[in-house]
Amino acid sequence: MSWQDELRNGIRTAEQLAPLLHWTPEETARRAEIVERFPMLITPYYLSLVDTEDPDDPIGKMCIPSLAEFKEGGSFDTSGEADNTKLEGLQHKYAQTVLLLSTNQCAMYCRHCFRKRLVGLSEEELNKRVDEVVAYVREHREITNVLISGGDAFLNPNHILERYLRELTAIDHLDFIRFGSRTPVTLPERIYGDREFLDLFAKYAQQKSLWVVTQFNHPRELTEQTRQAVRALIERGVLVRNQTVLLRGVNDNGETLGTLLSGLTRMGVVPYYIFQCRPVTGVRERFQVPLGEGIRIVDNAKSRQNGFGKAVRYAMSHPRGKIEIVCQGAGGETLFKFHQSKDPADSARAFTVKLKPTDAWLDDGLQSGL
Ligand code: SF4
Repeated sequence: MSWQDELRNGIRTAEQLAPLLHWTPEETARRAEIVERFPMLITPYYLSLVDTEDPDDPIGKMCIPSLAEFKEGGSFDTSGEADNTKLEGLQHKYAQTVLLLSTNQCAMYCRHCFRKRLVGLSEEELNKRVDEVVAYVREHREITNVLISGGDAFLNPNHILERYLRELTAIDHLDFIRFGSRTPVTLPERIYGDREFLDLFAKYAQQKSLWVVTQFNHPRELTEQTRQAVRALIERGVLVRNQTVLLRGVNDNGETLGTLLSGLTRMGVVPYYIFQCRPVTGVRERFQVPLGEGIRIVDNAKSRQNGFGKAVRYAMSHPRGKIEIVCQGAGGETLFKFHQSKDPADSARAFTVKLKPTDAWLDDGLQSGL
């Protein structure tokens, strides 16, 4: 099946899932209400990884809508994206990096997505003017890299990807270009099955360093097809890095997370960040792990790694910057350090906060250290 057919045949309605998951008509109707609010799309490939007989299946948890998504609380913009938007769809939070919302489409709508406000829904925040983006990057010589995100950057058609590649690789002050895509995990055919796409990346990787940042969250996502996708990128000179989200019921134990990290390094994908799940509306209640517990899980997972696996950082994307969650003392005293900061005064600053066992984010109630 081509990747376009995979997408066309994707599961989009609660009614399609109901017979597989043995939902009653009432359960199906409730799920349909959720899908109305937060769209669902599961590729046949990704669905084949789900154990449909296990209601707590970690792979299923990432793609199957749950009634917990109705829970209020949290926010739809947990890292201040609106404040960092300089042009439609272009965010400039850190001096060296711009981030582009290039599409609202994904191959799968992850139930834990932190851009739930827009994926599969609104096109309002997207960039529709490549020329404006290119002009902005040209004018701002402090920018050394562009992250093309979304949605999923690889859901853009090849001619749009080529436009970005052609224009951005020609800008001298850029060191590299990154693409944020979960297709290696959810639709690997998009990569290994599209010769034109691979030729494009092979061509432009000769001119500028190109990176794909993806998101594997569970060892069962590391399949022969994903290996094929990653290999196809690496063979074309494209570097692949992984950002995992720490998720309750998916990878919230040292053994599972450790197996994932070592599987990634074995595949040639260096794990880069383990992100604290953000307090997003419809996500927080179902997926967040408290910070103290998160530290213990990550330490346990890292203790099972070689040097590459150990280099991963446990971090949160906070409105103030990317904050590393370093370690915790017996009384809950927790050390944090700015890894990236919006305000240069915060650069590399370390601070401590005394956390309660249930604290899962540095929000207004926990500002003492910030
Ligand atoms: S692929 Fe990324 S942007 Fe798309 S739904 Fe999943 S987490 Fe969100």
